[in-house]
Amino acid sequence: KQAAYAALRDVEPFTKDGERVTIMVNAGLRDDVPMLNLTGADGIGLFRTEFQFLVSATLPQRDRQTKLYRDVLEAAGDKPVVFRTVDIGGDKSLPYLRRQDDGHDDENPAMGWRALRLALGREGLMKAQARSLLEAAGGRTLNVMFPMVSEPWEFDAAKAVFEKQLEFLKARRKMLPEQIRYGAMLEVPALAEVLDVLAPKLSFLSIGTNDLTQFLFAADRANPKLAERYDWLSPAIMRFMRRVMQSLTGHKIDVTVCGEMGGRRLEALALIGLGIRRLSITPASVGPIKEMVRQIDTAEIAQAMDRWLNEPVADLRAAMIAWAEERGI
Ligand code: PEP
Ligand code: MG
Repeated sequence: KQAAYAALRDVEPFTKDGERVTIMVNAGLRDDVPMLNLTGADGIGLFRTEFQFLVSATLPQRDRQTKLYRDVLEAAGDKPVVFRTVDIGGDKSLPYLRRQDDGHDDENPAMGWRALRLALGREGLMKAQARSLLEAAGGRTLNVMFPMVSEPWEFDAAKAVFEKQLEFLKARRKMLPEQIRYGAMLEVPALAEVLDVLAPKLSFLSIGTNDLTQFLFAADRANPKLAERYDWLSPAIMRFMRRVMQSLTGHKIDVTVCGEMGGRRLEALALIGLGIRRLSITPASVGPIKEMVRQIDTAEIAQAMDRWLNEPVADLRAAMIAWAEERGI
């Protein structure tokens, strides 16, 4: 199997009916970047910038952040990299940040003072990261996205921090990015209800299904007792995703799924059936997903998904396994 996947490295993932599926990888360290060429992925769809903060004993200063982002862009070459601004707080808490905090501990860290909420609340931190990303991407495209956006104004506020730093760099005649593409992560269900408001502001949307499903099912993603209880291939999640895709029709934005489910064959198949054409996944999954993509017909899976979701089958996973086996997928 491994050899078969390796042979697919330079093969583009087209479906049987000629749809190109973009397959990117998730990363967080400088050393993850060689995975791009080893797997033949189309880019880094999610670069988790908080990793640098988590492995540091003190807050990474601007020059260290800039260096990391520049190294990553350089190593990625022509392939795009999507940087996510820090998702810290909650369970990824930093001792050196806590010291300056108000001493309050989150009772529900996943739903607490984390990610963009924390970044907007600590403007110095967000400003430093914005400046680092803008400087590192001088002369190139900067793709940046914000985690845990819950309402459109949070996206506006985060973008404003970047635009202000851009003005600052302009005034100092620094080299600026050629283009800046701003995106939001859809991880909080409430945001799905106002996508019509948010979408016109976005270049892209990235659906973080790890957090999204934990909030949809009110089930802690890190609790092993709950890990097997709710299926990603449940009608509830799939209908939710279908509605998201429907509410984005007519908006010209890239939609990516960057949660772990996109790296599993049946789950990815279901997502493609709902119209998703971009996945960002763990590097080890690139081969298996590429192989699956080349075996399917998007019109056929779209039709099947509609049938299964309109009158939900009792066991969607079982139905999909049977469907895939019939077709030798
Ligand atoms: C997600 O929530 O699906 C996601 C991609 O982000 P993280 O796993 O880093 O929370
Ligand atoms: Mg998340």
